[in-house]
Amino acid sequence: MSTKDYLEKDYYAVLGVPKSATAEEIKKAYRKLARQYHPDANPGDSGNSESTAKFKEVSEAYDVLSDTKRRKEYDEARTLFGSGLGGYAGAGGAPRGGGFPFDFGDLFGGTGQQPGAGDRIGDIFGGLFNRGGAGRTGGTTARARRGQDIESEVTLSFTEAVEGATVSLRLTSSSACTVCSGTGAKAGTTPRVCPTCEGTGAASRNLGNFAFSEPCRDCKGRGLLVDDPCPVCEGSGRGKSTRTIQARIPAGVGDGQRIKLKAKGAPGENGGPAGDLYVQIHVKPHAVFGRSGENLTITVPVTFAEAALGAEIKVPILKGMPVTLRIPEGTPNGRTFRVRGRGVTRKDGTKGDLLATVEVLVPQRLDDKARGALEDFRDATAGGDPRAELIQQARSE
Ligand SMILES: [Zn+2]
Ligand SMILES: [Zn+2]
Repeated sequence: MSTKDYLEKDYYAVLGVPKSATAEEIKKAYRKLARQYHPDANPGDSGNSESTAKFKEVSEAYDVLSDTKRRKEYDEARTLFGSGLGGYAGAGGAPRGGGFPFDFGDLFGGTGQQPGAGDRIGDIFGGLFNRGGAGRTGGTTARARRGQDIESEVTLSFTEAVEGATVSLRLTSSSACTVCSGTGAKAGTTPRVCPTCEGTGAASRNLGNFAFSEPCRDCKGRGLLVDDPCPVCEGSGRGKSTRTIQARIPAGVGDGQRIKLKAKGAPGENGGPAGDLYVQIHVKPHAVFGRSGENLTITVPVTFAEAALGAEIKVPILKGMPVTLRIPEGTPNGRTFRVRGRGVTRKDGTKGDLLATVEVLVPQRLDDKARGALEDFRDATAGGDPRAELIQQARSE
């Protein structure tokens, strides 16, 4: 059993008991599982079966959790490093307290190291270590490192979102402080090797039979101490850099969408690739047009006579002269017509449609001639009551 076993194996889960379980509860859980998976209870077992493996696992968990001292060590180990290797590699990636994120990969032979989990001190102080001879295992040479991913946002007009646009984006990213070149030390001074950890950035801590490595407390895992901090970055070695880039936003983006522009993030270090840029899109609404996926929408008013008799009407499009739409005789209110190819540009360059919905207008003011004509119309159509069926249906329920 190794330190790594302690971090990788959840003995409580194996026995199916909570972390707060009493010795009695652990014993009970173990007995039940042991009976279930014992080789004697599984005749014909060749020794390689699932139940045998399970039996071993259960026994191992019980060995540790039934021994008060070992259980304490186990609990402490897992509290110290979180549960599981992924857990502490992740925790190491987040910069804290102005120090450099610590790379636990070095301590455990690279196990669980995640790509981009964080800066390695060796990247930045590689040269220094080599000259001073205070090397440490791995990471002492300048390694290529991928640039940071950056978040940004942009507000587009409705038309820009539909057609695509080139926009200027001001990006702020963290990079090595330009004043001290990332050393964190005031001009004319150099950081010194931390005497506590002798530059390794790691400290040992003994827990019974096990020795754990954790970031050195004195140098916060940097391996170096700065006596006269750089006034600009206050010793952190990190600075902010701002730059403006031109970015092409593709046609057809929608409000609330987040798009990824590959390699438009922070530049890489030592020849590493640039990070990606994520842009949160906001789109201003249009006075006339709406969006429905790749289609544009519009509501077009028509007169009662146009709807009843049929007509050719002009419909505006987003860019260019209005198009003519023929609406047939007897068009009901709310019917939608499709004007092909006048919508949003798709990824392949083709376009969606314009969906034109007619809205039949009721005249608000009538002159004598129009009133007379409508009264004649009413008399001519007096035969049919449009509500007759409705009233009948309402009664029959
Ligand atoms: Zn600085
Ligand atoms: Zn130290």
